[in-house]
Amino acid sequence: MIEAIRLIESALAGADGLHVANPATGEAIATVRAWSTAEVAGAIARADRARAGWAALTASGRAEVLRKWYELILANEAVLAEAVTAEAGKPLAEALAEVRYGAAYVQWFAEEGRRANGEVIPTFANDRRVLTIRQGVGTCTAITPWNFPVAMVTRKAAPALAAGCAIVVKPAEATPISALALEWLGQRAGLPEGLFAVTPTGDPAGVGRVFCTHPLVRKLSFTGSTRVGKVLMAQAADQVLRLSLELGGNAPFIVMDDADLDRAVRGVMDAKFRNAGQTCVCANRLLVHDTVHDAFVAKLGAAVASLKVGDGRDEGVQIGPLISPEAARRVAALVADAVGAGAQVVAEAACDAASPAFAAPCVVTGVTPAMALASSEIFGPVAAVIRVSSEAEAITIANDTPYGLAAYLFTADTGRAWRMMEALEFGMVAINDGRLSSEVAPFGGVKQSGFGREGSSHGLTEYMEIKYALLGL
Ligand code: ADP
Repeated sequence: MIEAIRLIESALAGADGLHVANPATGEAIATVRAWSTAEVAGAIARADRARAGWAALTASGRAEVLRKWYELILANEAVLAEAVTAEAGKPLAEALAEVRYGAAYVQWFAEEGRRANGEVIPTFANDRRVLTIRQGVGTCTAITPWNFPVAMVTRKAAPALAAGCAIVVKPAEATPISALALEWLGQRAGLPEGLFAVTPTGDPAGVGRVFCTHPLVRKLSFTGSTRVGKVLMAQAADQVLRLSLELGGNAPFIVMDDADLDRAVRGVMDAKFRNAGQTCVCANRLLVHDTVHDAFVAKLGAAVASLKVGDGRDEGVQIGPLISPEAARRVAALVADAVGAGAQVVAEAACDAASPAFAAPCVVTGVTPAMALASSEIFGPVAAVIRVSSEAEAITIANDTPYGLAAYLFTADTGRAWRMMEALEFGMVAINDGRLSSEVAPFGGVKQSGFGREGSSHGLTEYMEIKYALLGL
C-alpha cells in the first residue's frame, strides 16, 4: 500500500468507486469515492458558502494559510511523489521534482496575493477621482489532467485561493490520489472546510457540464485536450463563464546550423523525453537544419538508445510506462504510419515491456509535415525529425499548426534567436534550453492551445476582476 492512502482514508470507497491502477504493472492501488453530478453541485454550494469568510481575511491572513500548505506539501514530498509514481507511472525522481515544482506555485501565490494592488488613475475631471481595486472572481472550478497530478492542481488552486476565491477541482480519472492528498494537506494547513474541494468522478462529461452551468460558478480553469476544451468553451457560453484553457500543443524544436549540438541534444532529452513524452510542451517535431542533421541525429540516437526504461519505482529508471495500454498502442500506430510512408526508426532504447503501457523511446527520421506523427500530439517518447534547409522554412513549418503552446530554438546567433523568437506563433519560446516551466513565468498558449496564463503575476490576474470606482469629490 502506498503511504498516501493513509491520508485520504475518508475518500476511499467500495466497488462502485473509481478504480486507480499503477500503469507500470496494472496493479490496483485504491478505489476512491466517485462523485455524482448532484454531489458535485453540493460541493460547489459548500465551497461558495466557505468563500465569504475566506475572502474577508486580509491577503496576508490568506498567505499565512497558503504558506503552511506549501510547508506541509514539502514535508510530505516523499509521500506525494510515491503517489504520483504509483498512479501516473513517472520515475520517482521526476515525481519528486513535480511535487517541488507544484509546491512552488503555492509559495509563489501566497506571496503574490499580497501584491494584488489597485490603482489611482490620473483623473479626467478635477472634481472626480478614478480608482481601481482587484477582487477575487468568486467560486471557481477546475479540471486537471493526469500527466502532472500534483502541479496542475496547485497551479490552479493556489492562485484562486490567494485571490480570495473558492475552488472545486475534478482530477483526471487515472490520478485522483495525489489531488486528494493535496486536499487533505490543505485542510491541515487551515483552509476552511469545503473551500478547496477535490471531487473525483467516473462521469467527467457530466461533472464538466455542472462546472460550466452551475449558477454559483464564476470561472473554470481547464488543462487537457483541445477537443474537450472546445466542449467546455461551448458549455461555458451560456453563463458567459470566465475561462482559462491550457490545451494541446505541437511544439517545434528547431536546431539551426550554428547550434551547439550537444546542448541541443540535452534540450531534446528534457523537452521530448520528460514524463515519457507526455507533456503538452513536449517537443513534437524536431526541425533540424540539413547541414547538421546527420551529426545531430547520431548524437541524439546515442542518447536515446541509452535511456533506461522500466517501473518508475526502480532505481535509475528514466522512462516509465505511458498512462495506459491504449496510449502506447496509439503511439505505436503513429510510428508505424510514418514508417509506412517512408520514415525510418534509426535508434531505439531497450524496453522489456512489463506491461502493455510501455512504449520504447526512439528517434524517427525522414518525417514530413504531412505525416500524422508530425501533425498530431504524439504524447509518447518518439523524437520525430524533419529536415529543413533555411530559417524561413523552419518558421513556416513550425507555425503551420493550429496549436501554439511552446517552441524551442537552438542557435548561437543572438540576432537570429531574437528574430525567430518573434516570428514563432507560440505562447512560450525557449532559446537554447529544453525546460521553460517555472512558477515565476507565465505559462500558456495561443491559437487552439488556448488562452490564459498560469504562474507569474499574470496567473493571479486570471482569478481576479478589476473594479473601477469613480469618486465624486
Ligand atoms: P487527455 O487526452 O490528456 O486525457 P482529456 O482532455 O481527455 O485529455 O482529459 C483532461 C481532463 O478532462 C481529465 O480530467 C478528464 O477527466 C476531463 N474530461 C474528459 N472529457 C471531459 C468532458 N467531456 N467534460 C469535462 N471534462 C472532461
